[in-house]
Amino acid sequence: MSKTNNLADSDLLSTNSKRDEFSIKTNTHESIAIKQIPSRSPNTQPNARNTKIHIREQKGFFQRIRTGLNSLLVVLFFLMPLIQYQGRQAVLFDLEEQNFFFFGTTLWPQDFTLLAWILITAAFLLFFITTFLGRVWCGYLCPQTAWTFIFVWVENKIEGNRNKRRTLDKAPWNKNKIIKRVSKHLIWGIIALFTGCGFIAYFVPAQTVYPQIFSVNASFLLTAWVWFFAICTYVNASLMREMVCLHLCPYARFQSSMFDANTITVAYDATRGESRGPRKRKQETNLGDCVDCNLCVDVCPTGIDIRNGLQYECINCGACVDACNQTMDKFGYQKNLIGYRSDNDLAGNKNAPLKSLKFSGYGICILIMLAVISADIYLKKDIQLNVIRDRMNLYRETLDDKIENSFTLKIRNKTQEKKIYQINITGDMDYRLNGSRFVTVEAGEQVTHPITVVIDSTFYATGMGTDSHAGHANISFKIVDISLTSNQVSQESNFFTP
Ligand code: SF4
Ligand code: SF4
Repeated sequence: MSKTNNLADSDLLSTNSKRDEFSIKTNTHESIAIKQIPSRSPNTQPNARNTKIHIREQKGFFQRIRTGLNSLLVVLFFLMPLIQYQGRQAVLFDLEEQNFFFFGTTLWPQDFTLLAWILITAAFLLFFITTFLGRVWCGYLCPQTAWTFIFVWVENKIEGNRNKRRTLDKAPWNKNKIIKRVSKHLIWGIIALFTGCGFIAYFVPAQTVYPQIFSVNASFLLTAWVWFFAICTYVNASLMREMVCLHLCPYARFQSSMFDANTITVAYDATRGESRGPRKRKQETNLGDCVDCNLCVDVCPTGIDIRNGLQYECINCGACVDACNQTMDKFGYQKNLIGYRSDNDLAGNKNAPLKSLKFSGYGICILIMLAVISADIYLKKDIQLNVIRDRMNLYRETLDDKIENSFTLKIRNKTQEKKIYQINITGDMDYRLNGSRFVTVEAGEQVTHPITVVIDSTFYATGMGTDSHAGHANISFKIVDISLTSNQVSQESNFFTP
């Protein structure tokens, strides 16, 4: 592929590697200038895109944060489905019963607008954070990154450091290589299978998934889904790795539209670093602070050279920051030649994030959506009532001078505990209910409760009712939870008369 094509394909977004040289000018909160950077070659860059990336292990402040957050994510992912609450799995999208349990709250299909609002708010929160802190989500909390780092950690433990892994790649197949490769893929496979089980355990109770899968006793459908997600995990974290971030993830493609000159991302201070060049420690030199040790490239999980400027491949993981700070320490230079900073920081301009239209706009959207979610939660009822009239007989006149109407009440208990509900009837006339006022509904169940409502013909005939009652009158059914009277729901209907 020609150099030109390479650049067009890569859609690179870049600030300069050397600001003076390229004379980038940005407004205090406007867009970042774009520059094409040279294509990479395996000869000049060890982690080039067309060679397998062997990440060099890096320790440091940001890597401790990343490892901590990634570990938290993985632990929560596996732990959540194992938590029991009120006698059932605390977090479960029960596809069979078509509802979502979340710690004592049950969402039914008709409540899924709430779930939709939560997801939309989460998306806006992501946009908001991206405008402020770039792709920190990718570097610190994205499952793809977390699982890739787990797989790399396993690879590192079995095959050794980056140089040993490279040597092993080139080595002929012998007993040592076969044992290492088989062990690595076996452990990767086990992690992937657990991940598949862990994911499906959000949809099928975990107490079913793990025993049935590992005793090879699961139904075909359950087995197929678990293996599908296990294979996806295996392929993503072992074979594709950074390719997912570079070519599959849509977020990588549109995140640049959220960036502006105030966005804080990992950036190289070219003014300070250039001209780069190797030297001995404590050697007097006219060079910039970059000693060209290449560590920032070696530790990069996406194989880029951040000294070329901001690129869409950068997931903001901070590995190059830690690597460069380590080098700066060794040479006695000031830290943060590579650091988290905005384009305005680099240009010496004042950051004005609050004045940024995108930043404020996303912030306002999030506040509006949080208000909508709060209102939705506040108005959410734990009882669902559906009143159905008897359509065969609009009314019946009885021998003892009464007029009857029949209704069927469908009452659903949307909580996770058994409830006793009281049926109250109000309206234009002196309604009475034939039969019991109380109905018991098990947790999550719906009962069909037929009732008959009666009025005295005398009430109707003496005109206590008004002319407006001729034909029909208003009737209101109210279902009240007797253990929590604020939990009630009403529905209007019609009472028919001669
Ligand atoms: S350039 Fe630095 S922050 Fe960006 S992905 Fe590579 S190592 Fe992580
Ligand atoms: S780690 Fe720092 S000093 Fe080393 S090459 Fe990268 S920018 Fe230069």
